[in-house]
Amino acid sequence: MTTLYQPASPDAIDKCIARLAVAFQRQIDAATVKVYRDTMSDLPLWAIEAGELQLRRKGGTFFPSAPEWHAAAQQAITGREHEVMTTKPSAPDVYECQECRDTGWGEVDRDGKTVCLPCTCRQWNTTYRRNTISSRKFQERA
Ligand SMILES: [Zn+2]
Repeated sequence: MTTLYQPASPDAIDKCIARLAVAFQRQIDAATVKVYRDTMSDLPLWAIEAGELQLRRKGGTFFPSAPEWHAAAQQAITGREHEVMTTKPSAPDVYECQECRDTGWGEVDRDGKTVCLPCTCRQWNTTYRRNTISSRKFQERA
């Protein structure tokens, strides 16, 4: 299961670093890779990739710093949160996902027992995502 904010795996981050190095025609050593990987390790892969693409397209003479890349990825997260927050909510009695009624949790029968599992709609369900972001921001304020 992946969620909107699940941090990327080290291997996935390394692939992004390698692509960035190719784009900027740089050879980077293992120590540098480790610093970039550590810097980006709190972010989800989709945001790291979005930041990487932005930096590659922006170009320039110098290889982007780890903080620059982190900021570009964070900007992608802010953009997606804004998109989710400003998407018109569905009517209260109309669910985007009938399976979980937009809670993000579905009931599944396992060996005669009903168990709750993350619903497959989490990646596209704007109501679920909006509620998750609202909840996360509330927790950060608390
Ligand atoms: Zn669902």
